[in-house]
Amino acid sequence: MSTKQTSLESFLRKKKRLSEETEMSSTSKKRVTFNRQYHESYLKYGFVGTGDFHKPKPLCIVCSNQFSNEAMKPSKLLRHLNAKHPGVKDKSLEYFERKKREHEGQKKFMRATTLIKENALRTSYLVANRIAKAKIQFTIGEELILPATKDICRELLGEAAVEKIAHVPLSADTVTRRIEEIAEDIEAQLFERINA
Ligand SMILES: [Zn+2]
Repeated sequence: MSTKQTSLESFLRKKKRLSEETEMSSTSKKRVTFNRQYHESYLKYGFVGTGDFHKPKPLCIVCSNQFSNEAMKPSKLLRHLNAKHPGVKDKSLEYFERKKREHEGQKKFMRATTLIKENALRTSYLVANRIAKAKIQFTIGEELILPATKDICRELLGEAAVEKIAHVPLSADTVTRRIEEIAEDIEAQLFERINA
């Protein structure tokens, strides 16, 4: 493995770690001793439990609003249902179960979309790095690499693969930005090594 590849890997790892740390700090900042728990019976008020398992938050499946853990109380949940959704307050449990399944389907879809976007972003950095190493025009990403990769995928893997590839940002502007970002990071890594 070349030094450049190692530097890029460490850059991508750093990016991933940073985004994970931001996520963690937002979910587990303060641990309170008492957290309200979700109970299955809350579904009849139109609520599911989301977020941190130890400190779940009630989420209304009618309006998709999420409330704090402190609001996880039958009286508060019922008050929301009666005040905000009088049209469905007398609906059967089956109605809310169906709504819950719809909500879960949406969540799954969102998670899959987020994963595709993350992988596409990573791909964009990897390809930009190759373009920089090859010392060719940055337009090659949008003019040749992307369309050619789409052809290969369409013929060998099918339309689903082509759709995923469409998420990889490779315009000349993007490639320029990626390369600048990678170069800045490599420079910083070099300084760190020199000063170590
Ligand atoms: Zn609501």
